[in-house]
Amino acid sequence: MLILLKPDAAAAQRAEVQAALRALGVTTEVLDLPGRFAFIAEEGSGVPGESIRRIPGVDQVVPLGNGQAPLIHSTWSKTGRTVSLGGARFGGGHVGVIAGPCTVESQVDLERTARQVAGAGAAALRGGVFKVRTSPHSYQGGGTGALELLVTAAREVGLPFFTELNDPRQVALVGDRLDGVQIGARHMQNFPLLQEVAALGKPVLLKRHMAAGVDEWLLAAEYILAAGNEQVILCERGLKTSERHVRFLLDLGVVPYLKQRIGLPIVVDPSHAAGHHELVPDLARAAVAAGADGLLIEVHPRPETTRCDALQALPPTVFAELMSDVRDLAAMSGRTVSGHVRTMREVPPHPDNTRSRSMGA
Ligand code: PEP
Ligand code: MN
Repeated sequence: MLILLKPDAAAAQRAEVQAALRALGVTTEVLDLPGRFAFIAEEGSGVPGESIRRIPGVDQVVPLGNGQAPLIHSTWSKTGRTVSLGGARFGGGHVGVIAGPCTVESQVDLERTARQVAGAGAAALRGGVFKVRTSPHSYQGGGTGALELLVTAAREVGLPFFTELNDPRQVALVGDRLDGVQIGARHMQNFPLLQEVAALGKPVLLKRHMAAGVDEWLLAAEYILAAGNEQVILCERGLKTSERHVRFLLDLGVVPYLKQRIGLPIVVDPSHAAGHHELVPDLARAAVAAGADGLLIEVHPRPETTRCDALQALPPTVFAELMSDVRDLAAMSGRTVSGHVRTMREVPPHPDNTRSRSMGA
């Protein structure tokens, strides 16, 4: 178990707590946390956590699973934590929806999508500019030029945005331009990347690898917390199985499972799991009903024109209907959806909406 001392505990108190634990026969290991004293107690002492909590100076006693992710487990609270960026809120009773294209291609389509998802009440925009593709022959994203389009589109509609980084060198290159960083499934265990991204001090959306167990996923998140950044949002996006009727098998059970163990927000990405737009709304509703703190949804006004994940993109009208259901479902469990529904007139159009520029391959 993890034993956290009160945040204002002095060094002398640490020694007292340690002595009290020793007297109870509990063997401990000191854990070096930023700005906080903590111990990991070896299992098997037989002393219950409630008894340890009565030792003066002890703040929390957190049971640990097999994978030792003490920082992650120390985030647990009944209400859960909120991670915020701009006006977007995830967790702690807030449901945030991140929406936008898989990848940033045409400026006109991006700005249209941004206005449509903002109007429907999304909390944040998304768009890939450094794409991680299974084949080296597939479109790899528009890079820094596409990122500037994304920054502009997001600012115009007043939404924060997430984009994926997949190489530690990109952090120095564009880190200061981002609101939130997405770590894609395939880079969940790219530990140097996680450490560099954590150091930016911005919210990090950490996707679960398609073959990762929960403990591996939490330990990846532990790297970000250990680097001093607690603004982590976990994202379930489906697991690889031999089943072919869906692209990946969405693990919705992990939402309530984690809610009972950790305090970080958990969002669900039904788009990459389903791989088909006709399955996305039902999976999205199920995710919110299961307690997800948000969704990540791919939306495109002309999916037939995109070079990336065309089959799974929702048309904006379907996305707007889904948002209405998300608000109803969240309200049923006493939660609020972060973001405001606006008419198109209220979402500012770009001053020159006749421009058209596409990102080259
Ligand atoms: C994406 O969000 O566009 C993406 C590539 O997702 P994943 O890393 O989950 O495959
Ligand atoms: Mn995609």
